[in-house]
Amino acid sequence: MLTEKSIEKTNRVISYLRLSITDRCNLRCVYCMPEEGIRFAPHSEILTYEEMLHLVGLSVQSGIRKVRLTGGEPLVRKGFINFLGRLCKTEGLNEITLTTNGVLLKEFAAEIKACGICRINISLDSLKPDRFFQITGRDYFDRVWEGIQEAERLEFNPIKINVVAMKGTNDDEILDFARLTLEKPYHVRFIEFMPVGANNGWTPDKFISTEDIREQIGTLGVLAPVKSKPLDGPAQRYLLEGAKGEVGFIGALSSHFCKKCNRLRMTAEGNLRGCLFSDQEIDIKTPLREGRGDDHLLKLMNYAIKSKPKDHGSGTYGPRKCVRKMSSIGG
Ligand code: SAM
Ligand code: SF4
Repeated sequence: MLTEKSIEKTNRVISYLRLSITDRCNLRCVYCMPEEGIRFAPHSEILTYEEMLHLVGLSVQSGIRKVRLTGGEPLVRKGFINFLGRLCKTEGLNEITLTTNGVLLKEFAAEIKACGICRINISLDSLKPDRFFQITGRDYFDRVWEGIQEAERLEFNPIKINVVAMKGTNDDEILDFARLTLEKPYHVRFIEFMPVGANNGWTPDKFISTEDIREQIGTLGVLAPVKSKPLDGPAQRYLLEGAKGEVGFIGALSSHFCKKCNRLRMTAEGNLRGCLFSDQEIDIKTPLREGRGDDHLLKLMNYAIKSKPKDHGSGTYGPRKCVRKMSSIGG
């Protein structure tokens, strides 16, 4: 049952929490986390698992029904599996999912599945090991690929593969990624490159719109639309004829899905964010640690929901940048 609290001022129902559990990562993707000069939050500033479990439990009272764990890289945080097992026991959640870069997936996939997680998103921007290295700064393509195979062997369903499409970097692999769905049951989703975090390398000439990507993939065959389900995200889903998997497009900048946005974000440092592109944050960790009580924390959560920006105000060629790094917001 959705409560009045989960409905914000433009009548969007906010039911999806993206929870960043760490700002650390074992990759250095060029568009997300620079190799030099990153300032990680001190461990004491990161929410403990106990604190996260408490806040997620409260968020259910604010109308949250789906939680996605993200980061940084969620699998690098010590004790992750134990936390996941406990999170999966939270009453009132309909869905718990995970976004990972896949580097440690082979090692942890069976335990993740045993916790009751069946759906997984894996980020992979290139099918070529040398290019993977150029994008991520680490020579881990084989590890990620083996992680994906392991997820398939364990029958995770769906296995979504997130590809950030960047002109001049990996746009020559768009068709290869789409062809992958002919042979494999993966949902390959192309995400528009976003200007998130100061100096993340975004420039208009590196941007490719989902429309351009769809047009390219259209040369492989007819793209039949697939209907989305209620808790699905903003991806437009399609099927190539005879394919085992799907292709999807997330037009984070070009298609204005703000009207349908159902997300609230919580950073690893315990700040609530209504919008990826707005640096407006509400600190919920300090009152939690001061022992302010659940009524007060719930008021803050409901305030974060009510004050969610109407839209991100970004157009394709004049995006509003946000200063906080993607790795500390969680995507
Ligand atoms: N480390 C995990 C991973 O990479 O899957 C989870 C966190 S990562 C911040 C979440 C998602 O955000 C990834 O799919 C990543 O590719 C995407 N992302 C990061 N920076 C981005 C950007 N500037 N534009 C578009 N997507 C971005
Ligand atoms: Fe790490 Fe994910 Fe950011 Fe890449 S996109 S640096 S894997 S947090």
